[in-house]
Amino acid sequence: MTDPNNNGAAGSNPFAGMAIDFSADTGAAAVPLASAAPIATAPGGPSASIADRGRTESKLIIVGSGPAGLTAAIYAARANLEPIVLAGSTPGGQLTITSDVENYPGFPDGIQGPELMTLFRQQAERFGSLILDYDVDRVDFSERPFRLWARGNEYRAESVVVATGASALWLGLESEIRLRGRGVSACATCDGFFFRDREIAVVGGGDTAFEEATFLTRFASKVHLLHRRDGFRASKIMVDRARSNPKIELHPNTAVDEVLGDVKVEGLRLRDTVTDEQREVPMEGLFIAIGYRPNTEVFRDWLDVDEMGYLVVDDETRSKIDGVFIAGDVHDHRYRQAVTAAADGCKAAIDAERWLESQGITEASTATAW
Ligand code: NAP
Repeated sequence: MTDPNNNGAAGSNPFAGMAIDFSADTGAAAVPLASAAPIATAPGGPSASIADRGRTESKLIIVGSGPAGLTAAIYAARANLEPIVLAGSTPGGQLTITSDVENYPGFPDGIQGPELMTLFRQQAERFGSLILDYDVDRVDFSERPFRLWARGNEYRAESVVVATGASALWLGLESEIRLRGRGVSACATCDGFFFRDREIAVVGGGDTAFEEATFLTRFASKVHLLHRRDGFRASKIMVDRARSNPKIELHPNTAVDEVLGDVKVEGLRLRDTVTDEQREVPMEGLFIAIGYRPNTEVFRDWLDVDEMGYLVVDDETRSKIDGVFIAGDVHDHRYRQAVTAAADGCKAAIDAERWLESQGITEASTATAW
């Protein structure tokens, strides 16, 4: 989300600086990271050669290319595992659909999400990761080498890191997609700061919506919580906390039919879900907090998922299959931060490397030289 207060025209057109085209992560329109910026070979090591791009076997295959997957690739490549990263057809993960990232350490002035992921990718390629922007269609983890299929090719690996992340759910409105990053967001932690002294709305009736609404009162002048029913799914304590917060107004039986505004959010068309009556209200921001969907479809026959559909980890990054490791938001519904996902990717790569060594597949530990 671009800072609406930092556009050279503060006060008159507070969202004028929002220039990024935000594509839906659920749609096919997202700009592939590779085309967002050319990947240059950084000094200090090889990128994948043309011949290498045909490689289909590795000691380690990483599925996913958000902060978890690419950090795993950096660590694995530096341990000479020559990982193949099956990055997905819209690589880069959730950060590629946000703009300013101000909480990733090391960037005191903030950095654009797509740029940050380009840097992750350059760093992974610098040490010899082969990154292919393909979706994995199917896997077979019944025996080693593990087998994964993508774009009609079969890939084989002695170990796998699953880092496919999670996707925020959206309402599915055309206007919501068009104004994403221009006042519409699915991440209060990332974007709340940009709504200082503004009147905004949060959609949802679960714990996430209440947590985000409460968090957003640190910045916003008023937070309207819009929920399609009159009963809330959120825990009583969260609802009570919101009820006692003078900055939060609860609107049960309220659906969002349209986000209004051309280049920034200016209002909402709301519908009373009991009477079907519509009304338009002025609003400067809209946070969607209707849940997340972890990207686990192709792994469900092989790995355990919890009651919310997230992969289950044992002892930090292990799965129930020896040699298959899990990292990032695909299992973590608690923190969901780029920095925690990156840390998880690091752990998964170290665990994979140590496991490969314990199986005699790699030689003596490089663990001190990460
Ligand atoms: P959730 O519990 O599934 O709630 C999603 C909410 O969004 C529901 O109220 C649902 O309405 C609404 N919703 C879903 N689709 C919608 C649509 N298309 N249009 C309008 N509204 C829609 O998801 P969550 O709040 O993300 O929580 C997920 C899990 O994480 C829960 O187990 C929660 O307890 C946990 N969590 C815990 C904490 C905490 O303890 N601090 C914080 C966040 C999340 P309906 O109710 O009508 O279905």
